[in-house]
Amino acid sequence: MTDIAANLNGVRTLVDAATHQSDRRKGCVTLLAVSKTCSADAIREAAAAGQRDFGENYLQEALDKIEALVDLDLVWHFIGPIQSNKTRPIASHFQWVHAVDRLKVAQRLSEQRDAALPDLNICLQVNVSGEDSKSGVAPEELPALASAVARLPHLRLRGLMCIPEPTPDEALLAQRFGLLRTLRDQLQHTLNLELDTLSMGMSADMAQAIAAGSTMVRIGTAIFGSRPPRPEA
Ligand SMILES: *Cc1c(COP(=O)(O)O)cnc(C)c1O
Repeated sequence: MTDIAANLNGVRTLVDAATHQSDRRKGCVTLLAVSKTCSADAIREAAAAGQRDFGENYLQEALDKIEALVDLDLVWHFIGPIQSNKTRPIASHFQWVHAVDRLKVAQRLSEQRDAALPDLNICLQVNVSGEDSKSGVAPEELPALASAVARLPHLRLRGLMCIPEPTPDEALLAQRFGLLRTLRDQLQHTLNLELDTLSMGMSADMAQAIAAGSTMVRIGTAIFGSRPPRPEA
């Protein structure tokens, strides 16, 4: 077994254990393998070990890998920050977009999504940490954004995503993840929408996220190893 296959098994075991501990149904948490900075070959190894969903942050790098791996039946998630002039390739090459926090970006994705493709799955990123984090819509502005995005054609609003500040404070993490869940529950109720996705939890905090109701954990280092530092573009 390769390292990647062994790591994947280890992460699956942790996800199942956290799911069980939280009295949740086995299989209700999707594992999204975050493959930013990894080679196409590393993704191929993970795919051979049964992994299907992959998350990428950097557009050009992602497009190169998507092209190199077209022979595999993979689901691609764009999880990085989105510049509004880069929406077209995102709309055409990905099945999910996780970090939408502005209506303008959603409108462009909607206009640019090929009507012949299935609707593009959207999560709205919420700033659950207040001033500590710059991306994500503020909780007060979420209802207006969500109802506008839900009306756009060729998009399917699936739920919410967050990236809390890194912290060893488990109570604080529980509070951040709990806020995202509460916001999702409120939106479902007020907008009468089915929002089946809470994209929360990374390598360091997946257990807390699953305890708070995560349906999709985004795991990079625990699967592919630590990443080389990336010079900021
Ligand atoms: C890099 C990244 C992850 C994965 O982080 P790890 O700590 O490597 O598991 C998850 N979500 C987003 C948005 C990321 O950018």
